[in-house]
Amino acid sequence: MSAEKPPKRKKVTVELLERKHAGKVTEAYRIMEELVEKHHSQIKDAKLAIAWRFGWGADPDGHLRLADCKKGSDLDRSMHGYDFVFLVNHEAWNQGRLDEQQKRLLIDHQLCHAAVCMDSNGEPKQDEKGRQVFRKRKHDVEEFTEVMSRYGTDINRLAKLAEAGINDSKRPLLAGQE
Ligand SMILES: [Zn+2]
Repeated sequence: MSAEKPPKRKKVTVELLERKHAGKVTEAYRIMEELVEKHHSQIKDAKLAIAWRFGWGADPDGHLRLADCKKGSDLDRSMHGYDFVFLVNHEAWNQGRLDEQQKRLLIDHQLCHAAVCMDSNGEPKQDEKGRQVFRKRKHDVEEFTEVMSRYGTDINRLAKLAEAGINDSKRPLLAGQE
């Protein structure tokens, strides 16, 4: 009689991190809460969660994803109320590869993605249920390090120009392109 092979179980790649463990606020939440208080007061009332993401490998360019920001949909908000969930690379965070400063940078970056939607009067936008509306903010600068090393701060100026050009069709970025 041959021993039956145990069925292969599906891998679980995400697990919500509890804010407290053994009565203490966990490191990731502590860092997040400190940063929200210091630099992200606009989302101080948002319901934020952190979840471990297991098994993220490097992509073909050798980039290892360390974290990601997921904005809660209306369905998410009605099920569990979270406005944002930050996925954090469990292996990178817990295997001593990141020091405290790098962990802060990583969480700070994700918090920068979490933004409040504004209405046409410049006031925080609310939904029909009177809840604040959020959006996932894009990066200000998205560039190759190679290009950054060649052009440095000109990249920021170019990004601002591009923004002005897009937002103001009367002043196109490139003359004669209309
Ligand atoms: Zn980002």
